[in-house]
Amino acid sequence: MRVRPIAFDSMGTRSMCTVVETGEAKIIIDPGAALGPRRYGLKPHRIELERLRMHKELIREEAGDADILVITHYHYDHFPRPDEDVSWMRGKHVYLKDPGSRINRSQRGRSSIFLEQLKRVGVKPERADGREVRMNSCRIVFSEPVQHGNDPRLGYVLEVLVEEDGEKIIHTSDVEGLVAWPQVEFILKHRPQTLIVDGPMTYMLGTKFPEEDLETSIRNLCKVMEAGLEKLVLDHHLLRELEWRDRVSELFKEAEELGVEVMSAAEYAGLREEPLEAMRKKLYEMYP
Ligand SMILES: [Zn+2]
Ligand SMILES: [Zn+2]
Repeated sequence: MRVRPIAFDSMGTRSMCTVVETGEAKIIIDPGAALGPRRYGLKPHRIELERLRMHKELIREEAGDADILVITHYHYDHFPRPDEDVSWMRGKHVYLKDPGSRINRSQRGRSSIFLEQLKRVGVKPERADGREVRMNSCRIVFSEPVQHGNDPRLGYVLEVLVEEDGEKIIHTSDVEGLVAWPQVEFILKHRPQTLIVDGPMTYMLGTKFPEEDLETSIRNLCKVMEAGLEKLVLDHHLLRELEWRDRVSELFKEAEELGVEVMSAAEYAGLREEPLEAMRKKLYEMYP
């Protein structure tokens, strides 16, 4: 099984787009990318706009020979916008978060527009919540809906397990660092070797993300590491701050004792870390 993060915050756009290649199928989880509309009072820099264009192109390119597309929820950093052409999804199995239940109003609205887009290009998607898809040596397991980060008012997301010959990887989608127990339970039930997780939303620390949620997140991530994890990929909300490693320094200490590798998606992919949104102020100073 080959796992390739292709667009992530550590690579310059808001995204968690991951390609998983198994002997049975090529799977793309969350084929979308977006930019933070405002950071430090600034709009996206032209370098970010260029990166977004690149990432979207890469996603469409990777989808060319993909068999399965997974959409964990309806935020535009995880699936295409209404003005985007989605004909590249034609001929793929599309598994998505059930638009009819455990969903908030804004995501329900976005999902119905997306379903129309899919219908126009002849794609019949399937609801994935709580399901298992088996293909010979490989299986995909979708969690029951778990709350989006620390606030169920933001809706619900699906976590995704891909397993082949005993090798397991879980992509958590937007959990903001494992702050609610059902988000953790799915991981503890399956005990993957690799976990790709949306880290705590520390750039909102003290406002939308209270200090105690950061403590809970670190505690829960430690529990998951103790359950036999080998690689922990932290990204998305956590990578919106340049000093993200300092924010979770306790976690790094614990990981070292347990022999777990902790890294961003860029690092996992062997690329230089370029969290462009966190660098936005610098980008405007360097290239006005
Ligand atoms: Zn989201
Ligand atoms: Zn997101």
